[in-house]
Amino acid sequence: MHGGPKVVALTFDDGPSPIDTPHVLDILREHGVTATFFMIGMNVKRYPDTVRQVVEAGHQVGNHTWSHPDLGTLSRAGVRREIERTSDIIATTCGERPALFRAPGGHFTRNSYAVCADLGLRSICWNVDPEDWSNPGAAAITSRVLSTTRTSSIVLNHDGCLTDTLITAPGGPGDRSQTVDALRVYLPKLLAAGYRFTVPDRS
Ligand SMILES: [Zn+2]
Repeated sequence: MHGGPKVVALTFDDGPSPIDTPHVLDILREHGVTATFFMIGMNVKRYPDTVRQVVEAGHQVGNHTWSHPDLGTLSRAGVRREIERTSDIIATTCGERPALFRAPGGHFTRNSYAVCADLGLRSICWNVDPEDWSNPGAAAITSRVLSTTRTSSIVLNHDGCLTDTLITAPGGPGDRSQTVDALRVYLPKLLAAGYRFTVPDRS
């Protein structure tokens, strides 16, 4: 590891969720931390007020496609529709076009890189994955984040999911309360260990 500043990035995918995203925002506000939220276009359309809460709190909104498909199954035109429609609704909802893109499942493709180059989007992956989406328990998420985060890490979390019926089902696959509970524990520990938080470069 190099000896530079201990700077890392927190990212939250698949939201926004009107249930879990506000809890994430509360914790980030409490600790003065800024993060990036890679949002699903369909969820931006459903929950515009939550999108605006994220932006007004000073966080960055990224593009995570309209309907969270495997981009490898789509033509270039199909990939472009997924990405462009999402940038459009983010722009009309919060007044600024996103600069960052993350492919569902991290499955970036030749087509996604070409479309992103055309639309001026920078592709951002991750290198710390606690697999919080599988609901392994807040303690497991916490220990995975704390044991694998290093300088320059990009940490993957999930604050929502594609289907709103799942979002509202306690204990269901869209219930992100474990992610929220883990964040509440590991964020102050990372800060105490000297880490500082940033958002990925926009260019
Ligand atoms: Zn995703």
